[in-house]
Amino acid sequence: ETGWGFIGASTIAREHMVQAINAQPGHRVVAVASSNEQRARDFAAHAGIANAYADVDRLLADPAVDVVYISTTNELHAPQAMAAAAAGKHVLCEKPLALSVGDALAMVSACQRAGVLLATNHHLRNAASHRAMRDAVRSGAIGQVQFARVFHAVHLPEHLQAWRINKPEAGGGVELDITVHDIDTLRFILAAEPVEAIGLGRQGGMAQKGLTDGVMAVVRFDNGTLVQLHDAFTVKHAGTGLELHGDAGSLIGRNVMTQQPVGDVTLVDANGSRTLDLRHQDLYVTGVRAFCKALAGQGEPAATGLDGVKSLSAALAVSQACATGAVVHIPNIT
Ligand code: NDP
Repeated sequence: ETGWGFIGASTIAREHMVQAINAQPGHRVVAVASSNEQRARDFAAHAGIANAYADVDRLLADPAVDVVYISTTNELHAPQAMAAAAAGKHVLCEKPLALSVGDALAMVSACQRAGVLLATNHHLRNAASHRAMRDAVRSGAIGQVQFARVFHAVHLPEHLQAWRINKPEAGGGVELDITVHDIDTLRFILAAEPVEAIGLGRQGGMAQKGLTDGVMAVVRFDNGTLVQLHDAFTVKHAGTGLELHGDAGSLIGRNVMTQQPVGDVTLVDANGSRTLDLRHQDLYVTGVRAFCKALAGQGEPAATGLDGVKSLSAALAVSQACATGAVVHIPNIT
């Protein structure tokens, strides 16, 4: 059996990842570490996890742990992933991988050197909707893609606000929370890389201490596609979407920027309009399945460590563009 240790007694771990991992044959969550002993114990009891630790080193010393899943606040991902690699544990890490591209690249090299797998939990790549849009683009269904529009302005529920709205040092703010997902999804669908960003941000009464809770940005990709992003924590009733517009047709994805296996995609072209067949499956189960296969030597994780670095780099560029008003060049990372 492959044992998983959770670094972080977080909401995402509790609501999605315990089930996603325990659903894989031969895989089981066997340990959890929190900075708070009682929280670790409560989490373990609630999720049926054998061992609860009050510090990460003890979890990393547990021989039953082969893989760690890191879902602490964002500033902790890099040091914890480096420690896990040094302990010889494989790493599935939450987005954003780190707070800087340098730290994220260091995670990739540390895992390579240690011979352990590193992947990023960008769940939207696993959605039937985004996979269908990627397939349609690849097959030429909309011709040459010219534009994309992402609507990801949502309302951050109160129980998730905390560090996201008041802790810049923990990587709070909408860019590292939501924009990073948009960029990763577009990199996946377009099979292209972002090259420059402009944007404006605002504080709509939720974020504090210089953090942004709403952005509108434009990102140019290296295949010429211009992408418009609208991300926010403060919009209750807009719904979400992702649209791709090409010279031969448009793909309209509705209710697709979400953790749930829902949403629909319509293809509109000279022949009219039709809804694509989607076989929805749990996004996290699908992602963990790919990770487990990669561990067994079959294929790549849904989003690799390098994917996490590249999507982070572009999200940081959007953030910098919003902070300075400048056009920010996004370096090519290989
Ligand atoms: P939470 O705010 O639920 O948890 C983050 C940390 O906060 C935990 O690790 C925990 O620390 C601490 N914490 C938890 N509960 C409490 C509490 N009651 N009082 C004080 N501290 C507490 O974060 P999320 O689960 O929303 O996000 C965690 C990570 O996952 C982030 O990096 C985020 O970006 C990412 N994420 C990814 C998603 C995806 O779909 N890929 C979706 C949501 C989040 P400790 O571990 O020390 O106990």
